[in-house]
Amino acid sequence: MSPIDTLINSTIRPDVRAVASYHVADASGFIKLDAMENPYHLPHHLREDLAQRLADVALNRYPAAAYSTIKQRIKDKLGVPAGYDVILGNGSDELISILCMACAMQDRRATVVAPTPSFVMYQRSAQFAGMDYVGVPLKADLTLDLPAMLAAIAEHKPALVFLSYPNNPTGNLFAEEDIVAIIKALDGFGLAIVDEAYEPFAQQTFMNRLPEFPNLVVMRTVSKLGLAGIRLGYMSAAPQLLTEFDKVRPPYNINVLTQVAAEFALDHVEVLNQQAAALRAARADLTAALAATPGVEVFPSAANFILIRVPDSDAIHAKLLSHKVLIKNVSKMHSVLANCLRITVSTPEENSTFLDAFAASQAA
Ligand code: PMP
Repeated sequence: MSPIDTLINSTIRPDVRAVASYHVADASGFIKLDAMENPYHLPHHLREDLAQRLADVALNRYPAAAYSTIKQRIKDKLGVPAGYDVILGNGSDELISILCMACAMQDRRATVVAPTPSFVMYQRSAQFAGMDYVGVPLKADLTLDLPAMLAAIAEHKPALVFLSYPNNPTGNLFAEEDIVAIIKALDGFGLAIVDEAYEPFAQQTFMNRLPEFPNLVVMRTVSKLGLAGIRLGYMSAAPQLLTEFDKVRPPYNINVLTQVAAEFALDHVEVLNQQAAALRAARADLTAALAATPGVEVFPSAANFILIRVPDSDAIHAKLLSHKVLIKNVSKMHSVLANCLRITVSTPEENSTFLDAFAASQAA
């Protein structure tokens, strides 16, 4: 064994060595419909104003530690209930990791429960924090299996249950009463994390129900709203919980450029809201076009992506790549997703390019 391998074996955890890095496909030259980004830029005049603001940022100073301006902007513009605060993460990815770090125990393994398939970072963050992860399969129609979720909660007494609302990669909203039943089943020992990454497209939220449930945490991100590049997630919960989570948050985790860009963008949030409305309309059009395609099963979506089942997902995915269209082949994630593909909703132009390439892929 080479010296570096010996070093790695003696220092890096076996379970870390065993996993692959989080894979991000190289999208250069492709129509990029794989990552649920908003395809629209800020309008040119706003970008020029933003450039001015960014030019004045003191790059030599650490970010203001309390983040009070940006937090206030988020509370004012993004629907956090009165009296509730937020904590900020470098994307909601970091918030998931903060939650796991705060809840992993030293004397016993704490557990994370989530429906599966769902957002992969719930499992990865649980693992890296040293927690057990229990995935509860969705039903064949991709709805939540409530009895199985409640059984897993009763058996494992999880510290955290993650519920993506709507769910990634399936796109559906789990039934509100099922989520309430899960929050209630966790009462007294566990936290329900309702992950509302796709809220701009679902327009359904548990944020206003925070006062009802002391064990509810609502997590969101500005990524899907159109600011994926700045990396900013936020989460709200009872103030006493936020105080604890904030202790494991790395200091200065939101950089000065992100703060200024987010403040600026939220001052113009109506532009982002209009873009989300355009994407909701485009989702309806794309859903209808796909549903009219023979052999394609389309699952209902409340998000900015659509899950479909096709006769041969690997072949269609490969053919779309040859047409320079990048979508996500999720067929290997879980058996309920056999032959499934996930397509991000984009501009009408990109959606029709996709549909043309999709038709050509099916014909070939
Ligand atoms: N939650 C869900 C359900 C997601 O799908 C994603 C991103 N794909 C995230 C969280 C992470 O978002 P962010 O860009 O804020 O890290």
